[in-house]
Amino acid sequence: MTTTASVELTLRDISAGAAAGSSCSTRLLDAPWDVDREDPGYGPGASMADAIPAVAPRQGEIPAEYREASAEELDRRIRAAKAELGDRVVVLGHFYQRDEVVQYADYVGDSFQLATAAKARTEAEAIIFCGVHFMAETADLLSTPEQAVILPNLAAGCSMADMADIDQVEECWEQLMEVLEDEGADGDALAPVIPVTYMNSSAAIKGFVGRHGGIVCTSSNASTVLAWAFERGRRVLFLPDQHLGRNTAKAMGIGLDEMAMWNPRRPLGGNDEQTVRDARVLLWHGFCSVHKRFTVAQIDKARAEHPDVRVIVHPECPMEVVDAADEAGSTDVIRRAIEGATEPTTFAIGTEINLVQRLAAQHPQHEIFCLDPVVCPCSTMYRIHPGYLAWTLEALLRGEVVNQVSVSPDVAEPARVALERMLAAKPAPLAGSAR
Ligand code: SF4
Repeated sequence: MTTTASVELTLRDISAGAAAGSSCSTRLLDAPWDVDREDPGYGPGASMADAIPAVAPRQGEIPAEYREASAEELDRRIRAAKAELGDRVVVLGHFYQRDEVVQYADYVGDSFQLATAAKARTEAEAIIFCGVHFMAETADLLSTPEQAVILPNLAAGCSMADMADIDQVEECWEQLMEVLEDEGADGDALAPVIPVTYMNSSAAIKGFVGRHGGIVCTSSNASTVLAWAFERGRRVLFLPDQHLGRNTAKAMGIGLDEMAMWNPRRPLGGNDEQTVRDARVLLWHGFCSVHKRFTVAQIDKARAEHPDVRVIVHPECPMEVVDAADEAGSTDVIRRAIEGATEPTTFAIGTEINLVQRLAAQHPQHEIFCLDPVVCPCSTMYRIHPGYLAWTLEALLRGEVVNQVSVSPDVAEPARVALERMLAAKPAPLAGSAR
């Protein structure tokens, strides 16, 4: 794995005046343990302006030997620990993780691919997930009880997942049931609402949807899952990403006038009762601060400068950006589109910078650039640094498990039900599912 495309190296070039462009925060060059010492926050990067929940996990200070080690020493120690642990450990690296960490991963992929990969490695006693908190929880849901899932920096949360808090979702559900209590009284087989949650949500939210007849989706299967939900319910409550929900529902032919936003800070989500009754999709007021940065103006500029450009964006981008792009799809769709291009092509990509720069380095036959010219990685993914990985691996060598993420059985059971429904869902035509 090359490290020449690393965002960290690009940031250093920018700060040294050797590269054009700019970064959203010069604090990205600080060591993550400096950020760990501060008041809780997401840290520098795309989510730095988002409000972090008071209960968000904190990362304690790791020993000085890891904070003060050079990159070369950390590299030597990580490789030595991995070699000694052998099959006892599996290291997972998310597509958005920086190359300084991804180079040690046994598997690189999106959150669900990684959790599934970990599930197949039953001989591994420990799964080190170099991603964010909800991903480690999902790996714990899918792994065996004997396996420990480790998040190298507990402060690596996800601002989007944190936007749907379980208490707010329970409160929302109560309000919806009050408004819709008369539905179903006439023997209608359809439930008033089916809750659907994006994989990027806490285990508590996955458990909630599992308990209420709902289902999990990924950015790859969201339309299949929505069709599944409309076969069972009159409307969908889509958590927590409004953009994935809106983009998916719109592509399925559901009008914008049939969608309503649910703002958890306002009574009835900021709606009147009739709006809730008329809605087919209720969109939770969540978003990804990485994908919110992409704009139609960036696409217009890319087209003006590169007339043959192929613009592909992630469906977590706002609707007008998805509409202006040539294609929209998950990280895996983006990766496969580039791998499948047989002629040299110019790609403008709307997703996290670490993945875009890695794809550009892996495919020099194409010109690949990020739509957003400002280097601004996912804040929380960036909280993981080789120092934390060395610390967790060497703890395992001593027989210690640090930073374990485990989901309590009362949450895990219904969350697994919601995941199993997703795995069993088959594409279905929407026409047969309209209310
Ligand atoms: S890219 Fe967005 S959704 Fe993904 S982990 Fe970062 S903040 Fe969360």
